[in-house]
Amino acid sequence: MTRKRKILLIYTGGTIGMVKDYTSKALKAFDFSQILENIPELKQLDCEIASVSFEEPIDSSNMNTEYYVQIAEMIEHNYEKYDGFVVLTGSDTMSYISSAISFMLEYLTKPVIFTGSQLPIGYLRTDAKENLITSIEIASAYKDELPVVSEVCLYFEYKLYRANRTTKLSAEQFEAFASMNYPPLAESGVHLNFNKDLLEVPTHNKKLIVRKNLCSDIAILKLFPGISLGVVESVLNIKNIKGIILETYGAGNAPSNKGFIKLISNAIGKGIYIVNVTQCVGGSVLPGHYETSSQLKQIGVIDAKDMTTESALAKLMYLLGIGIEKEEFSLYYEQSLRGEITNK
Ligand code: ASP
Repeated sequence: MTRKRKILLIYTGGTIGMVKDYTSKALKAFDFSQILENIPELKQLDCEIASVSFEEPIDSSNMNTEYYVQIAEMIEHNYEKYDGFVVLTGSDTMSYISSAISFMLEYLTKPVIFTGSQLPIGYLRTDAKENLITSIEIASAYKDELPVVSEVCLYFEYKLYRANRTTKLSAEQFEAFASMNYPPLAESGVHLNFNKDLLEVPTHNKKLIVRKNLCSDIAILKLFPGISLGVVESVLNIKNIKGIILETYGAGNAPSNKGFIKLISNAIGKGIYIVNVTQCVGGSVLPGHYETSSQLKQIGVIDAKDMTTESALAKLMYLLGIGIEKEEFSLYYEQSLRGEITNK
């Protein structure tokens, strides 16, 4: 007989654990112990559940790299003791946080499932219970003594996604997330069906390494028709800036005028990494497909391929943090490290 799986819930904050302050009418975070009291159904699951919580639960808009490290350390310190991890965070920045955690956990071989909800757990019509219960089921799913999932995922409204492929699309719908460039890893209906061919399968025998050094000296520069060279120049000249995500149009296109290209090229010359990510929620950068992207390629802009902005940003923080040499930077950046890029 297989033993009961041990799952650790990590509560960081977000709507899922919020209550209404009836004086101010605003939602605010409450004590995590009340989450378990609110879901007696959890006791029916065939696993042992323990929990840890941020000292002060936060709205995910207040997330920063120090909190990323806290989450990663909670997993690291409990890695041997538990079979799976469910991380509860606010949905607003969940794609950013979970993408970063996917890079920080190198050689992961256990499930780490991020989830949250659009309505607080105490509300009658809440989506929190289903999201939480199914996330725990996924984290405790084992076959032949091996976890079914061994990567960082995001579960929301009946779908399990690879976390670093997701984007929050709706502030209103229960189906708040999408993964436009990679299909769901599992779907929950009457049965929980895993798309086994899409899951990452660890092929190594190595111990988990937690990469805690993330670089925050980065920025996102979103292009728009009519953006002035002054604005571009001021972003490129930010003190200590080390990398910039350039959010371009369509298949990676940008203005082809000399002034713009010169600014980008000078920045690259100064050692700043510039990454080309499409503003579109689906599809890929295709350098050289249009004339308006071929110059970017020639001057050394890095190709994010079909990565999301959230993932591209997290990867930049991670690779700058581990100090990859300049000569090898784009080589690492342009290959899939955690399934965040489609190999063609
Ligand atoms: N503002 C909340 C947060 O991201 C929204 C949510 O949890 O869905 O923390």
